[in-house]
Amino acid sequence: MKRFLSLTVSLVLIICVFSACNDNRKQYITNNNASSEHNSTPIDTSSTNSDKNSSVSDFDPNYLNDIKEDFLNETNSSAQSDSFIDSNSSNNSNSSNETNSSNESETVSKEEEFNQNEDKESTEELVGVNKLRPDYDLGNCRDLSGDITVIVFYLDDFESNWTAAEINNFTEKEIKPGLKFLEDSAQKFGISLNLKIEEVHSSIYYDDKVEEDIKASGYATIDTLYTAARSLGYKSDKDFISKYEEKYSTEVICYCVFNKEGGSYALNPKRGSDVDIAEHVLMFAYDAESTGYEPVGWQSSVVAHETLHLYGAEDYYKPAERKALAQKYCPNDIMLSCKYFLLLNDFGDATAFYIGWTDVVPAMLYEENW
Ligand SMILES: [Zn+2]
Repeated sequence: MKRFLSLTVSLVLIICVFSACNDNRKQYITNNNASSEHNSTPIDTSSTNSDKNSSVSDFDPNYLNDIKEDFLNETNSSAQSDSFIDSNSSNNSNSSNETNSSNESETVSKEEEFNQNEDKESTEELVGVNKLRPDYDLGNCRDLSGDITVIVFYLDDFESNWTAAEINNFTEKEIKPGLKFLEDSAQKFGISLNLKIEEVHSSIYYDDKVEEDIKASGYATIDTLYTAARSLGYKSDKDFISKYEEKYSTEVICYCVFNKEGGSYALNPKRGSDVDIAEHVLMFAYDAESTGYEPVGWQSSVVAHETLHLYGAEDYYKPAERKALAQKYCPNDIMLSCKYFLLLNDFGDATAFYIGWTDVVPAMLYEENW
C-alpha cells in the first residue's frame, strides 16, 4: 500500500505541475497553505484577461490518502462519489480582475470579513466531543436541522447539456428522494428537518473541462458554483450564498449537476485549511463507469451521502482499518457503502454524531483503529 501511495503521490505531483501550467480551474486539494490569499475568490470566468496560469502549492501527502482510498466501496456499491475539499486557491489572485462598483466594493468587504471569520473558526481549538468531529460546524453548511433552502444548478459544458425533461427527472427522481432520506433519518434522531428545493436554474454554461475523477487526478473543479452564481449576477459563490441565506432566512445547500458520467464530490472545508469557496456539491448524473444509463433513483443515495459531507460526515470506507470497524458496527451506513438502492442504506449513530444530531459519542469512535 505504501508503495502504491508513493507512486500515486509522484503521479499526482507530476499532474499537479503539468496542470499548473495549463488549467487554473483544477485546484489541487490541500490541507494547508499559509501563503494563500484569504480574500481570493474562485476565478472570474467571465474575465477574458484573467491569468490562466495559476500555480498549485503546498502539496500535502496526507491528503492523498483521502483521494486515493476514497470512493468505491469495493464490496457492493456503487457511488463513485465523494467527498471533501479543502481546496484552496493560492492561485486565485485574479479575483482583482472583477469589475467594481460601490455595491461590489461593499460586497468585497463583506467577503473579506466572512473569510477572516471563517479562517478564525477553522483554526480555533476544538473542545469536548467536537475534537472527534473536526469537520463539523465549518463553512456555510453547519446545522442540518430546521428549514434549509436547496438550490439546484444544472450546468452544460462542451460535451453535455440538459433537456427540460431530464432536469425535471433528476430533480424528482434523484435529488428529492435523497433529501427525503435525510429528512426521514433526522426524524429518527428526533431532529426536525425540512429540505426545500426553492429554485432550479439551468442553461448555465461551464466553459472548461470538469474534473470527473478526483481520485485519479488529485484535482477538483471548484468553480462551478462560482460560475453559476456569476451567471445570475452575483459577485461570487460566497456572495450568492450569503444573499440567499438572507433571502430565505435559512442555510442554503447548492448542487451543481452535470448531465454526464463522473464521481460526484462535496466541496467542504477542512479545519485548519484556507477555504475560499462556498460549500456545495458537484454532481454527475451518472456514475463514472456508467454508459450514460442507470436505473432511476441510483444517484439519490449519492445526493444524501455528499450532502452529509457538507455537514461534517466522514467516509467510513477508508482506510482499511476504519472500514473493517464500520463493517462491524454499521455495515449499511450510507457513509460506508452508499448503496445504489437508497432504502438499503442506514443512517447510523456515528453519522448522526458527526453532523451534530447527537453529542453522544458512538463506541466505534473509541476503537483504536478508527
Ligand atoms: Zn464520501
